[in-house]
Amino acid sequence: MKRVLIVEDEVKIARLVRDYLRQAGFDVLEATDGPSALVMARSEKPDMIVLDLGLPGMDGLDVTRQLRMTSSVPIIMLTARTEESDRIVGLELGADDYVDKPFSPKELIARIRAVLRRADATLGGGETVRVGDLAIDIPKRRVTVAGSEVDLTSTEFDLLLTLARQPGRIYTRAQLLDAVHGVSFDSYERSVDAHIKNIRRKIEPDPKQPSLVLTVYGVGYKFSDE
Ligand code: CA
Repeated sequence: MKRVLIVEDEVKIARLVRDYLRQAGFDVLEATDGPSALVMARSEKPDMIVLDLGLPGMDGLDVTRQLRMTSSVPIIMLTARTEESDRIVGLELGADDYVDKPFSPKELIARIRAVLRRADATLGGGETVRVGDLAIDIPKRRVTVAGSEVDLTSTEFDLLLTLARQPGRIYTRAQLLDAVHGVSFDSYERSVDAHIKNIRRKIEPDPKQPSLVLTVYGVGYKFSDE
């Protein structure tokens, strides 16, 4: 049974999430503030942490920063819609996903399952990444779509590989630049958009309505996990 640590100071929300998670077959731990969450994460070793960003005292971003010094436990942030920049900072600190409040418990559980699935898949690794019709041969740096080879630049290849390795995972532009060893500045971050446009032109069935490399408005990009 997977154990999920819920970190939420609002009793009502914590209770709702706890009840749904238990019904869905998870073992649930609870903390109401950052310091006790860090202690529990160390002592109880949960498989996943659902972390509210708006905590009194030490906030969710501080908790993420502290956790990531010693642990790669998957983290889903609970965020308010007004916290757009916090979402980006959280992802860049190493959170795996976020769910905006108010959320449906069903949606949260689906996201928890997706992140856990991804965490398990990442352990496997391998020389070829396959998602649907797309195949990326990593040692040969060769990409095919439905068997036909696609010609990508080195930067496009690295961007696509980063995204396709973890379908559904949201990357900010700065994280994608990092993946291609670029330096993150605002103007460079916009260059990511240009690379993505080229990738779409080369691999998407309809580049105007992308079904593989998806835009996450206000945040960045992800590879489709459908
Ligand atoms: Ca809160």
